[in-house]
Amino acid sequence: MNSTKRADLKPGNKVSRAVRTLERLFGVPRWRTRDPLDELMLTLLSQNTNDNNRDRAYHRLRERLPDWRAVMEADVGEVEAAIHPAGLSEVKAGRMQAILRWVEAAFGGLSLKPLGELSDDDAISLLKTQKGIGHKTAAVLMAFAFDRELCPVDTHVHRIARRLGWVPARASAEATFLRLRPLIPKGKALTFHLNLLRFGRTRCTAQRPLCEDCPLWNDCIWEGKDNE
Ligand code: SF4
Repeated sequence: MNSTKRADLKPGNKVSRAVRTLERLFGVPRWRTRDPLDELMLTLLSQNTNDNNRDRAYHRLRERLPDWRAVMEADVGEVEAAIHPAGLSEVKAGRMQAILRWVEAAFGGLSLKPLGELSDDDAISLLKTQKGIGHKTAAVLMAFAFDRELCPVDTHVHRIARRLGWVPARASAEATFLRLRPLIPKGKALTFHLNLLRFGRTRCTAQRPLCEDCPLWNDCIWEGKDNE
C-alpha cells in the first residue's frame, strides 16, 4: 500500500493499526492499580514535572505525613517542604489540602472509592469541579484506579494524535479525548495510553522526533517529518 492511500485511511483504522504497531514495538504494558486517593495525589504531584521528581516528592510526603488526614491537617508549609522535589510546591500543597477537605465533605471520609459507583463521565465532571483537577487528571484517576476503559490525553498523546491525523490539527486535548474514545479497540485504552506515552517520550518527541525508521511514518501527516 502506498503512503498516500495509507494516510487516507479512516482515523479508526489508523488508530487500530497504531495500537498493534506500538504493541509490536513495546509489548503490552502492565500497570499497578493504586487506591484512588493515592492515585489522585500522585497525579496532582506529577503536573509539570517528570516521574522521577513526582515519585521523590510522593515518598517524602508519605514518610513525613503517613496518611491523608495528616496531610490535610498539617501546616501547609510542612506539606510544601515535603513535596518540594515535584516543583510548584506552594500551589500543589494548597490544592492537595483543599481537595482532601473536599473529599471528606463530599464522600463522608478520606476515600474516593465511592466514585466507583458513578459513570466515567459523571465521575470526571464531578472531579473537574475542583481546582487543580483538569480533564486529564480526572481521566487518569478513573482509568488507573478504577480500570475504566479510558485513554487520558496528556501532552504526548495530544501531539501524536494530531501528527497522525487521528484528530484535527486544532483539536484541544479534551476534544482529542472525546474523538479518540470510540476509535480505540475494546480493552486497549489503558495499554494504548501507556504505549503512546512511551512513544512520545522516546521517539515522537516534541522536538527532533525520530522520524527516520518510524513504524508509523506512512500514517503520519505531520509536515515536519520529511525534515527529521
Ligand atoms: S513520522 Fe515522526 S512525527 Fe510522525 S509519528 Fe513518526 S516520529 Fe512522530
